[in-house]
Amino acid sequence: MNRNGILTVISGFSGAGKGTLIRELVKKPDYRLSISATTRLPREGEQNGREYFFLTKEEFEGMIKNNQLIEYAEYVGNYYGTPQEYVEEQLKMGYNVILEIEVQGAMKVKEKYPDALFLFVTPPSAAVLRERLVNRGTEDKETVQRRLSQAADEVDYMDKYDYLIVNDNLADCVEQMHRIISEQKNKIKYN
Ligand code: 5GP
Repeated sequence: MNRNGILTVISGFSGAGKGTLIRELVKKPDYRLSISATTRLPREGEQNGREYFFLTKEEFEGMIKNNQLIEYAEYVGNYYGTPQEYVEEQLKMGYNVILEIEVQGAMKVKEKYPDALFLFVTPPSAAVLRERLVNRGTEDKETVQRRLSQAADEVDYMDKYDYLIVNDNLADCVEQMHRIISEQKNKIKYN
């Protein structure tokens, strides 16, 4: 019997609301959220070690060099990466680990963890996507534009994911994701 937890990679356009979904999902027992490292500056209200480990470029490159990251990618001018140790440790303990990462990093995880689940979160429409990004108010106009054009590139990767989650209702989406992950766990257990 496989006692390991399920590794789930969740991607989606910036502004798709995936952060909120994930925060709710990981409140359930047996879930752990991996905290990424990044070189981007903290947004207002973000804390080091809670949303991200905020690193300098030199510190981040040190982690790359020492093979401490499962994957990393550059997104809108900054590095983002997944520290390996925590993820491995929690999976072994049987927890379902969630990675919230962009598409290039997700493809690298796919090579290393073939049993992982890949979920792609979209807002219900392009108009909602723009509205959510602009109303978040944490980014300047240029960054919003860059994130929107990044979203256009990410469309090409959507078919590499196992499930598309349309984020129209928070509670429904959280339950849907939980169901998908639980089913995957059972599948692997009885294989
Ligand atoms: P944000 O700056 O909005 O927090 O994140 C920007 C993008 O980076 C999002 O698409 C997010 O999923 C992605 N991201 C966050 N952490 C990681 C990571 O560890 N690796 C990769 N590849 N992408 C990440």
